[in-house]
Amino acid sequence: MERNDGMKALVKAQAAPGLWAERRPVPEVGPDDVLIRINKTGICGTDIHIWNWDDWAQRTVPVGLITGHEFAGEIVELGEDVTDLTIGQRCSGEGHLIGKTSRQSRAGKFHLDPETRGIGVNEPGAFAEYLRLPAFNVVPLPDAIDDEIGSILDPLGNAVHNALSFDLVGEDVLVTGAGPIGIMAAAVARHVGARHVVITDLNPDRLALAGQVADVVPVNPMEEDLASVASRLKLKQGFDVGLEMSGSQAALDQMVEALVMGGRIALLGIPPGKSPVDWSRIVFKAVTIKGVYGREIFETWYKMIAMLENGLDVRRVITHRFPVADFEKAFEVMRGGSSGKVVLDWR
Ligand code: NAD
Ligand code: ZN
Repeated sequence: MERNDGMKALVKAQAAPGLWAERRPVPEVGPDDVLIRINKTGICGTDIHIWNWDDWAQRTVPVGLITGHEFAGEIVELGEDVTDLTIGQRCSGEGHLIGKTSRQSRAGKFHLDPETRGIGVNEPGAFAEYLRLPAFNVVPLPDAIDDEIGSILDPLGNAVHNALSFDLVGEDVLVTGAGPIGIMAAAVARHVGARHVVITDLNPDRLALAGQVADVVPVNPMEEDLASVASRLKLKQGFDVGLEMSGSQAALDQMVEALVMGGRIALLGIPPGKSPVDWSRIVFKAVTIKGVYGREIFETWYKMIAMLENGLDVRRVITHRFPVADFEKAFEVMRGGSSGKVVLDWR
């Protein structure tokens, strides 16, 4: 069997910047697991933190770990107790491995389980020819979703979770941060029926990409302030809903300023550290803020697949594709900060 000679994997082999291509044993599956042969993987901002070996990565990621958590592949082996999946099934999957004992899990709110561990961050990941995953985490892919889109369902899921946090039908929506996740959230807002979707970024490449992926109004706040954008679009008071996808304090300040009284903010961007917030402004505007982490397991997956089957098109957010042998080039492109999603081909 070819699997006997092990598998190729991208490993955090040293406590230093970089990832290393190494051979590792193919994981053995437990009774409730499946083995997935990986076809495509997406590179995430998280993988860049791990590559760069920044403070967060040093505190979080064990040296020797197989990295990566965005994937699509095919089931090649079933644990002995797995009855509801089949060999050959194309799939992606939820990379957050949850416990089953917390109050939240027992209430069915799996995405709020405090014991969550992430593949490619705390547990062996998907940048490998094979991935072991609990069958519970597997998300089968319909024929309409190919492996390339399958490999970006994790970040699309972040975008969907965030965008569906508040009712967007007929609303005027402000997205701050046109990274891949912000752009996909803007596309989702448009798809579900927002009236105007404005997206901000300081990087012209990112704004151009946003315009190519979705029918949105790209704005560089250094060049045009949001009050003038609002009046150009004939908004009476401001934006109804804000989706914060940059992690920038300046962007959050601008968002609060540009919202209507009683506006709502779904906060997904992660600021680098503590940042001062003008809370009185938030109180006087009666703004609701919701922190959004990960994906709702599995409601976000259900909605995302349904929307993709019904015309949501985010393919153009994938700007680069590389064979895994060229992973160093792929990471270089991602680290440049102007790309959309970068996908690695493992076959
Ligand atoms: P990214 O870094 O590719 O995109 C962020 C974008 O924000 C960049 O294009 C940057 O130019 C832009 N930006 C910076 N300052 C800005 C400002 N003042 N105004 C407008 N735009 C500004 O990140 P991504 O992969 O698209 O992820 C988006 C954010 O979500 C990041 O902060 C990331 O850490 C976070 N994230 C959160 C979760 C979660 O579960 N909550 C999951 C994944 C990523
Ligand atoms: Zn990711």
